[in-house]
Amino acid sequence: MKVPKHPTLIRRSLQARQKELQAHGPVLAASLVTVRRTCGNPNCRCARGHKHPGHYLTWKVKGKTHSAYVPLALLPQVKQWTQAHRRLKQLVRHMTQLALALIRTHVSVQRRQRGRS
Ligand SMILES: [Zn+2]
Repeated sequence: MKVPKHPTLIRRSLQARQKELQAHGPVLAASLVTVRRTCGNPNCRCARGHKHPGHYLTWKVKGKTHSAYVPLALLPQVKQWTQAHRRLKQLVRHMTQLALALIRTHVSVQRRQRGRS
């Protein structure tokens, strides 16, 4: 992300992101992974390499990884919920960069003003 130099532009950029900072549905802070497995039946096509895909959510709590099986019927919804989290996370990251940039410009403006007097 490109951070503007001027405080006014930084504030404008922050405000624009603030408006985007809302959820239009559930937000799920976990990653969706696909695992391919064999079912154990030697006559099944999975035994010949066409493994069964299974979808899981994984997330961490205090460094420990947890997981949950996602039924195929819920997969489209769950995908949306995890995408919503990714979008919000990126917004927060960008807003943090902008807020820090704003703080830095404030410090340099004060330094300049102090230098002038
Ligand atoms: Zn199978």
